[in-house]
Parts: sequence; structure tokens; C-alpha cells
Amino acid sequence: MNETLTERLAEIREQIAQAAKKANRKADEIKLVAVSKTHGAETVKEAIAAGATVFGENKVQEAEGKIVEVGRENAEWHLIGHLQSNKVRKAVRLFDVIHSLDSRELAERLERICEEEGRAELSVFVQIDLAKETTKNGIEEKDLPALVEFLRDCRHLKFDGLMIVPPFFENLEQVRPFFRRLREIRDEVCPHGELSMGMSHDFAVAIEEGATVIRVGTAIFGERNYRN
Ligand SMILES: *Cc1c(COP(=O)(O)O)cnc(C)c1O
Repeated sequence: MNETLTERLAEIREQIAQAAKKANRKADEIKLVAVSKTHGAETVKEAIAAGATVFGENKVQEAEGKIVEVGRENAEWHLIGHLQSNKVRKAVRLFDVIHSLDSRELAERLERICEEEGRAELSVFVQIDLAKETTKNGIEEKDLPALVEFLRDCRHLKFDGLMIVPPFFENLEQVRPFFRRLREIRDEVCPHGELSMGMSHDFAVAIEEGATVIRVGTAIFGERNYRN
């Protein structure tokens, strides 16, 4: 990609506006999470200078150094990857929002550690696995009501909504039903909840289907280099 980060961000904001318009929605209802995984602190700082305010990371370990270097208070930090139980304390210290809550055990642990760490409130999204893919994380739909029930009684965890990572399809019309189904589930279990769905290649479709939070990496930062 030859454009600058600023230009790419502007393009994405334009695409968000177009998709919102097409769906008769307001662009400012849609939060852009810039997925900075594999990119360094310098790149994140550059993105902040270009106007990005919210960043998504998928590994606690990788995020830690970056967040310290960029500054915990200089951006909003979202954990979008699977959270292992031995990383929960660090995650509670580092992140504003957890998108990947996928079990009752994890919810209990997060709630207990928020209490221990004096964290008044932590926003969580429940990640749902609609494709029942064993390689993907997420709770099965049938287990959702019990988890939602538990979250209602939590003092610290704030149930913000639902999140999905659908299977990859070249043809976006094959992704659409996953977004649509997530929205239907949301309407049932938490009518005022948020919908975290849509990545670089499919965020326009996600917005048409009601996404309120999109997680975009490659389209902002370029291809990831996993050797970093
Ligand atoms: C990496 C990642 C993204 C961003 O993916 P892109 O295709 O680079 O936009 C979004 N959500 C999750 C959960 C991810 O792990």
C-alpha cells in the first residue's frame, strides 16, 4: 500500500459513511476499532496522530508492552482475541473492553479479579460461535442465555453486547447470514446491546446488518508481518 495511514483511515471513514447511508443509519453510531496486532507502538502512535482513538489487540502479552509504551490513557484498548485464564489479571489492568468473553468460567474469573483489582466496571462482549467451528472461539448459542443471566448479576462486568468472527468467505453474501443471525440473537437477549462484527473485507456488509462496532486491521495498517 502506497497511501499513508492518514489516507487509509480517511478512506475507511468514507466507506463507513457510505455503508451507513445505504442502511439508513448514522455513521457516528459505528465505532471503529483499529486492529493493531503485530504492529508496533510507533505505528499505533502514528495512527493516534491520524485520528484513531480505539485499538484492538488479540494477545495480552503482545499488547502489554505496546500499551505501556503508547500510554494506557492515550487510547481506548480492546482485547479482541481469546483470553486465557492465566492472563485475566493482566487483561483487567490493560484493557477497557473485552470482546472475547466465551464461557461462564471466564466471566466468573473476570468478575472476581475486577473486585480484587478495584476495577469498578469492565465492558464485555460475549463472543458467539454460530458456525460451530472447533478452531474458532466463542460460546454456542444454546449456552448464551445462562451466561447472560450470570452477567446481569455481576457488579463489575458490564454486558455491552455480542461479538462474532464468522468463517471467511470470498463471497460476502455468504457472510451476511452470520451477521444477520447475530443481530437477531441480540434483539432477543439484549435489545439495546452493541454488535461487534465486521473486519477489513466485510465491514460494509456488517454495517448494513447492524454492526455498531467494527474491527479493522489490514485495511488500515496493511498486511501483518507475523515475524515481528
Ligand atoms: C485480526 C482480527 C481482526 C482484523 O482483521 P482484518 O482482516 O485485518 O481487518 C478483527 N477481529 C479479530 C477478532 C481479529 O483477530
